[in-house]
Amino acid sequence: MKITVSVIKADVGGIGGHTRPSDGLINAVRKTVESAGNLLLDHYIGYCGDDVHIVMTHTKGVENKEIHQLAWNAFEAGTKVAKEEGLYGAGQDLLKDSFSGNIKGMGPGVAEMEFEERPNEAFTVFAADKTEPGAFNYPLYRLFVDGLSNTGLIVNKSLAKGVNISVMDVEEGKIAKLSLWEDKPTVEAALMYPGRYVISTIETKEGEPILAASTDRLHNIAGTYVGKDDPVCLIRTQKNFPATEEAGSVFNNPHYVAGNTRGSHNMPLMPVKLNTAATIDFCIPIVSALVFSMHNGKLTGPFDGFSTPDWDYVREIATKKALAMRSQGFIHPATLVPSELEYAEGYRARMDILEQKMKPIEEGSSSGQKKENYEDPD
Ligand code: 13P
Ligand code: MG
Ligand code: MG
Repeated sequence: MKITVSVIKADVGGIGGHTRPSDGLINAVRKTVESAGNLLLDHYIGYCGDDVHIVMTHTKGVENKEIHQLAWNAFEAGTKVAKEEGLYGAGQDLLKDSFSGNIKGMGPGVAEMEFEERPNEAFTVFAADKTEPGAFNYPLYRLFVDGLSNTGLIVNKSLAKGVNISVMDVEEGKIAKLSLWEDKPTVEAALMYPGRYVISTIETKEGEPILAASTDRLHNIAGTYVGKDDPVCLIRTQKNFPATEEAGSVFNNPHYVAGNTRGSHNMPLMPVKLNTAATIDFCIPIVSALVFSMHNGKLTGPFDGFSTPDWDYVREIATKKALAMRSQGFIHPATLVPSELEYAEGYRARMDILEQKMKPIEEGSSSGQKKENYEDPD
């Protein structure tokens, strides 16, 4: 049976800041999704930091209007509660006034895949907060390209052939389909700058879908900063695909990603348990793993992928790396480069003042000595 898994997420408000949604907000989202009758085969609702994710299974295919409308309505219902409760950033990711057929480009993030369900279908949803879609570049590189991180790339016949990776240019809104192993250095060049090039889909050489990730850039939609594009990514696992533990383990080296406080810092990506609030120790970027089984579209799970004791050690590493980075305050690379700073207006105001105070360097002054007057000492 062909099943579609649609993961649609949005931040529509947090308690006392960008922390986590309230129970009232989540209940409003859940009530709306439950009212869908038999449109869905199954669903799951949870959150990572202040981002609510709705996992839906159905037979309607990707980019289906009814499914997207349902998610939009659910986030609108959540926004209504967020406003009533005075939550911070109520309706933050709903950037358009009314739904127009496809939720993509309206603020919420979407990762969805249609596929022939295997008898024991297994997939994991990775949901992140306080970062951007490019945060997945490094772990997905480890998973699909780096044999030192994933022995499956050597011993699994399907993975050893290489996969097709679609890389999106999130500035230009274009996609390049790259093919391993021949395009390996090109994949590497693209993944080097996660603020611009991000992985959107991965499939086997035979065209079987393995992965779909959200690739939105909220400020391209809104024209100005409204929050980071906290991403979700859906990966099918086992058999011809990476093992579930291979997909999880590539998050065990908390690498630096753009995001964090005011969306303006480089900080490590910390794996956390399901339904974890963003920490108010700054707000270290976080990622959670929802591990599902599925049969006839019915979900079992999620098992909380980052809940076992070993992940406490990884969280400690992330915390140490976070504090080390922020110990140098605002000095780059703790902060992002100007074009990636989310509070660009405030920064520009400061730079305007600096610019006004800038005067040309006078000729002959010690610091402005011309090169021809300068004699090189032997
Ligand atoms: P979110 O993108 O998760 O809403 O966070 C915004 C922010 O500026 C946190 O400091
Ligand atoms: Mg928020
Ligand atoms: Mg968020």
